[in-house]
Amino acid sequence: MNDKTYDVVIIGGGPAGLTAGIYTSRDRRDTLLLEKSIVGGLPAVTDLVENYPGFPDGIKGIELMSKFKKQSEKFGVKFSEFDEVKNIETIDKDIMVRTERNEYSARTVIIASGSVPKKLGVSGEDKFMGRGVSYCATCDGPLFKDKDVAVIGCGNSGLQEGESLLNHVKSIKFVEFLPYMNAEKILQERIKNQENTSFFLNHQLLSINGDDFVKSITVKDRSSGEEKLINVDGVFVYVGFLPNTKFLSKKDSSEKDIVELDDYGYIITDRYMKTSLTGVFAAGDVRSKKFRQIDEACGDGTIAALSVAEYLSEL
Ligand SMILES: Cc1cc2nc3c(=O)[nH]c(=O)nc-3n(C[C@H](O)[C@H](O)[C@H](O)COP(=O)(O)OP(=O)(O)OC[C@H]3O[C@@H](n4cnc5c(N)ncnc54)[C@H](O)[C@@H]3O)c2cc1C
Repeated sequence: MNDKTYDVVIIGGGPAGLTAGIYTSRDRRDTLLLEKSIVGGLPAVTDLVENYPGFPDGIKGIELMSKFKKQSEKFGVKFSEFDEVKNIETIDKDIMVRTERNEYSARTVIIASGSVPKKLGVSGEDKFMGRGVSYCATCDGPLFKDKDVAVIGCGNSGLQEGESLLNHVKSIKFVEFLPYMNAEKILQERIKNQENTSFFLNHQLLSINGDDFVKSITVKDRSSGEEKLINVDGVFVYVGFLPNTKFLSKKDSSEKDIVELDDYGYIITDRYMKTSLTGVFAAGDVRSKKFRQIDEACGDGTIAALSVAEYLSEL
């Protein structure tokens, strides 16, 4: 156990956590940011970010996040990477944050742990993970050079990452459960104008098939019931997210969670980012809300940090 008590411990080094860190450290609050892998969050595995203000030509996700990190380091945020939070608990007025290898004491905590891509739960998904099934076009796209792939999900993430895959692959079959695409219109227009894309809207993915590697997928037309076998060498999955809040749930379901969660496991906050537990705030994708974007996560991080400042001055 570390004997010092931090003013703020931030859980998660994505846009929300790093923005909160910029504000709390500029307010001269002793700030520690804990990250279970390396700092950067989801944008660090996103190819090109085109809608973050200030970069008219877009910016590589990894470059944007390295700027966030540099800015927060400049004002004094301390980082502990590969330090996954397993539990938090209030003891008197302080909050104990326990990770796999340490225990930290804090006056306030900002939870900015984001979310992870949801799995499909279809036959073949686990078997072919890393052997044709991927959740990250930026990481795995180059492995599919001149191959035919499927992208499952036609929301913003699916189309945007599909667009970056087009730099490598021969063709993309997009599969969407709904009869329409949910992505921004500008993305839809660009993708539809490509010669090597085709669309299976209102189709359900039934299975991913192959031997050692993916060879095909089976989809079902939801209006006619017809099943189709589509030959592909890879499957990229973008069908939604699950919140990183496991460390806040009590093992025994009869006990209350550490902070109040909604039915899907996202953290409920008020508009000042306060959770149900005094001294604990939440920001970014991990919060129960409708829209999830980088600049929104930054906005949440800003509000959480300003609320922390107010809370600490009142203590
Ligand atoms: C493929 C894709 C493309 C996207 N493109 C765009 C885009 O172009 N523009 C846009 O505005 N938005 C985009 N988004 C959405 C955007 O990435 C998110 O809204 C944003 O990253 C949310 O930031 P966050 O800080 O809340 O969470 P995250 O970025 O998810 O960061 C959370 C961090 O917390 C860490 N963490 C989790 N659990 C723990 C734990 N127990 N202990 C310690 N650390 C933990 C994680 O490792 C992660 O680094 C995209 C998302 C995806 C998936």
